[in-house]
Amino acid sequence: MTENLLERYQRSMTNMFGTPAQALVKGEGVYVWDADGKRYTDFLAGIAVNALGHAHPAIVEALTEQAKTLGHISNLFTSLPQVGLAERLLAMAGISEGAAFFANSGTEANEAAFKLARRHSHAQGGSRPKVIALQNAFHGRTMGALALTWKPQYREPFEPLPGGVVFVPAGDIEALKAQMDDTVAAVIVEPVQGEAGVRDFPPGYLQQVRQACTEHGALLIFDEIQSGIGRTGTWFAFQNPQVTGTADPVLPDAMTLAKGLGGGMPIGALVTFGKDVSELFTAGQHGTTFGGNPLATATALAVLETIESDNILHNVRTVGTYLEQQLHALPIVKTVRAYGLWQGIELDTEAITAQGMRLPEGGLAPKVVAKALDYGYIINATDQTTLRLAPPLIITTEQVDPLIQDLPNIVAETVAEAN
Ligand SMILES: *Cc1c(COP(=O)(O)O)cnc(C)c1O
Repeated sequence: MTENLLERYQRSMTNMFGTPAQALVKGEGVYVWDADGKRYTDFLAGIAVNALGHAHPAIVEALTEQAKTLGHISNLFTSLPQVGLAERLLAMAGISEGAAFFANSGTEANEAAFKLARRHSHAQGGSRPKVIALQNAFHGRTMGALALTWKPQYREPFEPLPGGVVFVPAGDIEALKAQMDDTVAAVIVEPVQGEAGVRDFPPGYLQQVRQACTEHGALLIFDEIQSGIGRTGTWFAFQNPQVTGTADPVLPDAMTLAKGLGGGMPIGALVTFGKDVSELFTAGQHGTTFGGNPLATATALAVLETIESDNILHNVRTVGTYLEQQLHALPIVKTVRAYGLWQGIELDTEAITAQGMRLPEGGLAPKVVAKALDYGYIINATDQTTLRLAPPLIITTEQVDPLIQDLPNIVAETVAEAN
């Protein structure tokens, strides 16, 4: 059945994603099943999306009820869940004044953020044409977000892109300061870089970026699309002392959200902090047909309410710490960059080559990901040597144990096959 579906895929679907690893038919909790009935533990959660796992009753109920009640109305009208979600996000961010704009994806949220930066410039006579982004950053695939994304392989096939973007080395505050002046409209930063392999910055970096932005009147925009909604153990990464290096949150002027926010329902958001930034967009300057519709916002509300009522942030911290410690103890692991249930595992390739073994062509980590699938685990590689885990936030220690037990064998078998 799987073979057949993959063949049909190849005849009917775009080639842009390559060949899918599997065809999946069902999910429940942290598990999914393929078309042949094989079960996998999902350590990726649809790339940090399925915060409550698969088919969570709270999501099923919210979505079903809302579909029966009022599904879509356009932004010519508003609805209870839309306003409720906006209020809740502001409260979670700990801000009394602010504003939410809802879109349908991460990249759209960042398009809005980019346009916010341009509005900030235009509000000052167009004197701020520059936007600073970081090397290794990932902000999305539409033209504006792509212009903020570092990887040349992603950008170059689509140039020319919107202009004015300057990249600086990630985590190097002096390099950033060297580019900072009063022509900078905004600096956009992932508090921890997700697609780059869960990569963090030197202690204090985010505070220093905040300071540099304040000094020069530039907006600080945090892309919390992957790091937000509990992924690191706090609602947002900018509130996580492990990320910021300070007990107080490092507040941005705006943040973007998506992935975990809808628990699987496509939704994105731009949240602006404070009155001035929230007034940069005036009526008619931006828009969306679907964004913020009752279906999406009711589902997102249910996700946030469940994270709170089930004390899931606590689970993220305890299971995250356990997972990190167990992974650290494995000889095949060089380092783990762990932020709650978001972990970048650096495989120890030197230990392998030191034994006179060859590394697999195409990179160890991608081959380990394929082998893990045989073993019944969905994991991910961000480069040749880095594995990324971003499981549902509800995963338990019992559910992570099997992967920890099997990972050494998975790596050993992968290496053996290459030799
Ligand atoms: C996934 C991601 C995006 C893009 O989100 P899409 O919904 O795929 O458009 C942007 N920024 C970060 C940090 C992401 O992880």
